[in-house]
This record gives sequence, C-alpha cells and structure tokens, in this order.
Amino acid sequence: MHVGKYTFGEFMEMVTAFHGYPAPGVLIGGYMVEAARAGLKNGVLFEALVETSKCLPDAVQLLTPCTTGNGRIRVIDVGRFALALFDKYTGKGFRTFVDLEKLGPWPEIHSWFLRLKKKGEGDPKRLLAEIEAAGDSILTTLTIQIAPHLLCRAQSGPIAQCPICKEAYPVDHGPICRGCQGDLPYVEEGPDGLRGDAFDPLSANGGSISYSPSHLRDSPS
Ligand SMILES: [Zn+2]
Repeated sequence: MHVGKYTFGEFMEMVTAFHGYPAPGVLIGGYMVEAARAGLKNGVLFEALVETSKCLPDAVQLLTPCTTGNGRIRVIDVGRFALALFDKYTGKGFRTFVDLEKLGPWPEIHSWFLRLKKKGEGDPKRLLAEIEAAGDSILTTLTIQIAPHLLCRAQSGPIAQCPICKEAYPVDHGPICRGCQGDLPYVEEGPDGLRGDAFDPLSANGGSISYSPSHLRDSPS
C-alpha cells in the first residue's frame, strides 16, 4: 500500500535517508500520518501531537510541514504509539494508533510491536512485507479536541545576557539562564574543553569531549 503519494519503496528510501535505517516504527508511522491527515480538510493549517519520542516524530517530519524547528510538532512522551494531527486554530483533529485488536493477521508486526522476540530473532524481511501489506488496516483513527491551553502559544518574551555565562537567554527563565541553573547534563566544564576551530575531539582529554560554553566565549574566533 502507498504511503500517501509515495510507493512503499520510495518511502523506505526517505526513511533510510532521514532516520538512518528503514525503522518499522517510522514506516508504520507513515501510514499513521496519512490516516490522521485524511480526516482534515484540504488546506487546513495543522499541527501534530506525538505520544512517543520513538520513531513517530520522524514520520510526521518526513510527511508533513510540522517540524521540531518550526514548533508545529509537540512530543508528549506517554509511551503510546499514537499521533494526532489537528487544526491549529480550532484544535479539532484526528488521533491514530496501532490497534492491538487488529494485529491478528500480522504475526511479525504483532511480535515486533510487543517486543515478544529478542533482538535477532525476528524476520526483518517478513516484518517489512507485513507492514506494506497491512498498510493502515492495523490502525484505528478517532476524532480528538486539543485542550484550549495548548492552542494559544505564549508570545516570546524579552532576552537578556546571563550574568554568569554571558550568553543570551529568555528573561522569564529567572535571574540567570537555565544552563547556569544546572539544567544541562554536562558533567565537565573547563578550559581544556572544545575549541571553536581546529578542534580534534580524539586528541582532547584522552578522547572524551567536554563542552565549555564559558571557554568558547573567551576564545577569539
Ligand atoms: Zn548562563
């Protein structure tokens, strides 16, 4: 079955180029995006809500104008393999999920989806064939209405210079930036870190990379 306007083979190539390999989750995600979109009126400006951070966001980004960068995709990782596309202004839309009740005829999809087999035990060729043959028949799509508070986006507020790192940050984050409040996972910072030019990560720190915003600030570029 085609994925929107693409043959399954074409979509597999797109997924491989974007995602790194033809991940079953992105391939099924392609059918999910098209199933949800089918309910929307042509030309409607829509946004996406994805319920897992795995695979599905890439299907949305490949097939719709909703990207992380333009803010039209929201990932709320509740761990369900489901996505919704909805009218940006009214919040009305469609939610699609892989319906366990419909996986009976597709044993390879079933065991992959529920992780019933260990790595290497599945049959990847058969899995891909089942995904293509099943198409959107394993999905259920229902209408949804997005909560109003998610529709009105807060306006971007003023920017200030953080007194500690001297980088720009949104003022409403507090008197110092969130980076300096400890919200980043860097465990090492210091003058031996990354340099802006001619940096060889393998020769620095015996192979470990440390990122140092303050050092970048002080280096002439
Ligand atoms: Zn800072």
